[in-house]
Amino acid sequence: MRYSSVNGKSPAVGFRDALFHGMASDGGLYVPEQIPHLPTPFLDSLSSQSLHTIGRQIVSHFVDDIPAQDLLRLIERAWTFPIPLVKLEENLFLLELFHGPTLAFKDVGARFMAQALSYFLEKEQRHITIAVATSGDTGSAVAHGFYNVPHVDVFVLYPSGRISKLQEQQMTTLGGNIHALEVRGTFDDCQRLVKQALADREVVEARNLTTANSINVGRLIPQIIYYVWAIAQLQSLHGIQTPPTIVVPSGNFGNLTAAAYAQSMGTPIDSFVAATNANDVVPEYLASGTFTPRASVQTYSNAMDVGNPSNLARLQFLYKNHVETMRRDIQAESVTDEETVDEIRTTYERTGTVLDPHTAVGVRAARRIYGSAFPKPVIVAATAHPGKFPEVVQRGLGKQIPLPLALGEAMRKQKQSLFIKPNYRDVKALLLSSRSSSEHSQR
Ligand SMILES: *Cc1c(COP(=O)(O)O)cnc(C)c1O
Repeated sequence: MRYSSVNGKSPAVGFRDALFHGMASDGGLYVPEQIPHLPTPFLDSLSSQSLHTIGRQIVSHFVDDIPAQDLLRLIERAWTFPIPLVKLEENLFLLELFHGPTLAFKDVGARFMAQALSYFLEKEQRHITIAVATSGDTGSAVAHGFYNVPHVDVFVLYPSGRISKLQEQQMTTLGGNIHALEVRGTFDDCQRLVKQALADREVVEARNLTTANSINVGRLIPQIIYYVWAIAQLQSLHGIQTPPTIVVPSGNFGNLTAAAYAQSMGTPIDSFVAATNANDVVPEYLASGTFTPRASVQTYSNAMDVGNPSNLARLQFLYKNHVETMRRDIQAESVTDEETVDEIRTTYERTGTVLDPHTAVGVRAARRIYGSAFPKPVIVAATAHPGKFPEVVQRGLGKQIPLPLALGEAMRKQKQSLFIKPNYRDVKALLLSSRSSSEHSQR
């Protein structure tokens, strides 16, 4: 499989190069040159497959440069946690994507990307350093994904005092090859410092510096797998053969893009609902046919506060820029904060299940479309554990919920971070002076 740029102005590359480059040289996102179709015998036997065998089958269509046995091992190492499809109500299911180490769906992609990078680095006997700026969740998923992964050091830059205590503890208590830099400044300062480092030839060459942002194909491709796995479980565990509608709480629209790829590959999926919070540029685009990016506004489902979603370019590429065709497959709904809190309460009262604010946006969008009973199967991607958002959940339930075990542990650990001024000279000195962790550990 070759990957080309959505802008069409740079040469197509293999998986390895798309993985290492992140973005094409013309500034466009990489997309697979064609979407492969899954073999009929495989689709017919979905209900007897496991998450890992489905994973190998899907990924092998997109990755020619890793042999099949190595792929399976890599997938097994990345996904050491379950991704269950849980029944909420008649015909309403949650695909629980939040059982990874940071309790959000970004673990799924970040851990695969980490394993894939490490695979190539081992083969090439190279070491790289990854720098990421984070406003919260991406940093912890990347930090945990790359924790103890050979040949990689990670520097996470986060704005001091501007992320939640929980998020900070998740990034700063790992140690080892994960280096947390607490920047006295804003998220924009962190992003600027990372960009400056990536543009500095001296640092890039000395450290093999790169980044690991969410547009990387190494994070996108593995997300296709769990939609196929959802259908397998719908058939085997719940005895439903009807192709479902899939609801995806969306911000940057990577998760929905992966779902659309799964459908194009022949997975029996009827249609999609793109559920957004008040950041509704995509619902507006589907309604009007015109895309107008805007500055993002803050909401309770803050991981979806995106005003210029980069993966829309990939969706447009998939639908050949025909908004009418896209509309036939994808319905879009925008949900307010008030409705989000109300949905956390409603679902709890009806089912006893506590939703996180992002998943609640998805469930509310589904209820708006179908009313109080679901005439056909609907699967909502549950993107985070409710325990990560105690304040919003408490607004909905009127009571506190217990902290999940993994978060309680992180809260008790010692924070290890380096406090720095938002000053590139200091960051550069730090990057050039610190030895990589594998150099420490190599005997
Ligand atoms: C990142 C994130 C989303 C949005 O996913 P996209 O792929 O950016 O659309 C939704 N929910 C949670 C909890 C997230 O962390």
